[in-house]
Amino acid sequence: MQFIETRGNDGQRAAKVSFSEAILNPMASFGGLYVPEYLPDLGRAFLEDHLAADYKTLARDVLAAFELDIDPDVIDEALALYDGFDDPAHPVPVTRVGDDVWVSELYHGPTRAFKDMALQPFGVVLSDLAQKRSENYLILAATSGDTGPATLETFKNRANVKVACLYPDGGTSDVQRLQMVTEDAANLKVIGIHGDFDDAQAALKNLLNSASFRAELKKKNTLLSAANSVNFGRIIFQQIYHIHSYLALVRQGAIALGDKVYLDVPSGNFGNALGGYYAMKMGLPVEKILIASNRNNVLTDWIATGRYDLRERRVVGTTSPAMDILKSSNVERILFDLFGAARTRELMEQLDNERCYALEASELDALQAVFAADYCDDDEGKRYIRELFDRGYLMDPHTATCFKARATHADKPLQTIIYSTAEWTKFSPTIANALTGETGSRDIDALQSISAEAGLPIPARIQALFDLPIAQPAVIDKADIESAVLAFL
Ligand SMILES: *Cc1c(COP(=O)(O)O)cnc(C)c1O
Repeated sequence: MQFIETRGNDGQRAAKVSFSEAILNPMASFGGLYVPEYLPDLGRAFLEDHLAADYKTLARDVLAAFELDIDPDVIDEALALYDGFDDPAHPVPVTRVGDDVWVSELYHGPTRAFKDMALQPFGVVLSDLAQKRSENYLILAATSGDTGPATLETFKNRANVKVACLYPDGGTSDVQRLQMVTEDAANLKVIGIHGDFDDAQAALKNLLNSASFRAELKKKNTLLSAANSVNFGRIIFQQIYHIHSYLALVRQGAIALGDKVYLDVPSGNFGNALGGYYAMKMGLPVEKILIASNRNNVLTDWIATGRYDLRERRVVGTTSPAMDILKSSNVERILFDLFGAARTRELMEQLDNERCYALEASELDALQAVFAADYCDDDEGKRYIRELFDRGYLMDPHTATCFKARATHADKPLQTIIYSTAEWTKFSPTIANALTGETGSRDIDALQSISAEAGLPIPARIQALFDLPIAQPAVIDKADIESAVLAFL
């Protein structure tokens, strides 16, 4: 299968590229993104055939339908990383938490957030390609907390790839920061910056646009790639767990094969939701995809009105920081799939230039045929955490936002699959506050109170973070980032 561009082709580069090309060099013409030329039709027979399949078998067969230019042995090696999840036989448990409500837990990997679902295998695939081509890559990452640890973890000590990761000092949870600054490998550099996540992201953009930086990279024979969800190498792995979760409901007798379900996704950059959309287009029986947001509710307004409007908006800090995003990058892939390249380019250029676009009425109908959305503020989220805890289920603040979207939109008597994107250990002060009312706790204290309240041990891997030496102490000003990254290279 070949990959094409969401904003059309500029005549400067190939109009179609292989999967390898699309993931090594993910920026397409006119600032667009790569997408598959078509989506395979898996159909009902595929679902039937995989009712009893384990996660890796399902993954291998979904990937095979895309006919990627990746060696099957490499795919196997990549998927074998799911064996490092809590339960190798069930890397993604799907649990019933109420009448018609299920939670698909995507956080059982090494860094305890759903980023591992895609980044774990992606690291193997990218590093293998770099080695086979004898090329060296630098991955630059700016993180609000979960992408950073998962990117570092997957590329740690892998050949031909280096990672420089910027995080806002004071802008992540203690556990997230410790997951990064305790990473000790020669190919990893972690840099705290004075500022917030937007500053980190802006600093990264400056670096990518700096001529002197690019010239230095060239001298050092290093190419740039990206590990955020603009890279299709991540999206490809994010379709699988939607199909898996559906089949898990069939296996547990909650639905018959062919019954429709709601997929309910806590959304930021829309990678997770896009994976669900593609799964639906490939034949998964889905009634609607529910898009859950926090107070940064630009997606809620977009899906309700067709207007994507950034003009009056600033990012507000919430207790679900991985969703504190206004420019949601994978929305572009939805626009492309629904309206084609010319229209996508027009809309995205409007957004860049005027900070706003509005869909036509017929376009809005097409969007609303697939998606519905709502947002949940921090207090409502806390109430859902408390309510579910009282029913015996512990969840994180990102997952909690889904319960609001479900309450608003799941109006048919169908099952809902909520995606849980982080373990309770990553956002413990908010959860401790929801459970006990305590405020201002540091992570280490909040972990202890949740542990006592829920009768759960603090996982050893999380506890150990607090005693590991700090390998990456750097916290610097934005102005010094370029020299710090070059010194690392
Ligand atoms: C990244 C992340 C999200 C948002 O996922 P997208 O694919 O960017 O929409 C939600 N929750 C958590 C915990 C995350 O780390």
